[in-house]
Amino acid sequence: MRFNGVDIPGIFSVWNNVSLYDTDPKWDWGLRQIKEKGAGADKCVACGACEAACPQHLNIIESLQQAWKELNG
Ligand code: SF4
Repeated sequence: MRFNGVDIPGIFSVWNNVSLYDTDPKWDWGLRQIKEKGAGADKCVACGACEAACPQHLNIIESLQQAWKELNG
């Protein structure tokens, strides 16, 4: 599911994998795909639609920005 073009599950999946396997995101295929699709967290406009739809009431906007910063840092 992509909210306003942002691949939220994809970004969190890459973030989890990079952390779990201690790999360099620079070489992550999934991250490259997200960027090529233009579906990165840099496209987030903080509209809140994803948080309103989230049954677990996760703080998606803040976590997305944190993930993107770490993956591209
Ligand atoms: S806050 Fe809005 S733009 Fe940002 S990821 Fe959620 S739905 Fe997409």
